[in-house]
Amino acid sequence: MLQAARARFSKTEFISCPSCGRTLFDLQKTTARVKKATSHLKGLKIAVMGCIVNGPGEMADADYGYVGAARGRITLYKKKEVVRTNIYSDDAVDELIRLIKENGDWKNL
Ligand code: SF4
Repeated sequence: MLQAARARFSKTEFISCPSCGRTLFDLQKTTARVKKATSHLKGLKIAVMGCIVNGPGEMADADYGYVGAARGRITLYKKKEVVRTNIYSDDAVDELIRLIKENGDWKNL
């Protein structure tokens, strides 16, 4: 309730797009991987969006964004800024973790 009202963040918040014909990767599987790796990062908002056409606009005020850029390629965002491009999707979750660490937002379990 408080989390929904944004009054207090007691866990990581995830946004993912509903997926559509433009989706460039397995959204459910990828979102599950991202959640598994980052769900202990209380207070962070992480977006997983299927495509770069509408994804960045739809991920609103996310702290980090994981966005499909082309088949098998991912772009990572920090807030609204593109910070990594052309990442192989196989490496992109690890790269997202690296990015979060570089920005001092990572916490060990
Ligand atoms: S972000 Fe892209 S893939 Fe996701 S629902 Fe919107 S248009 Fe479709």
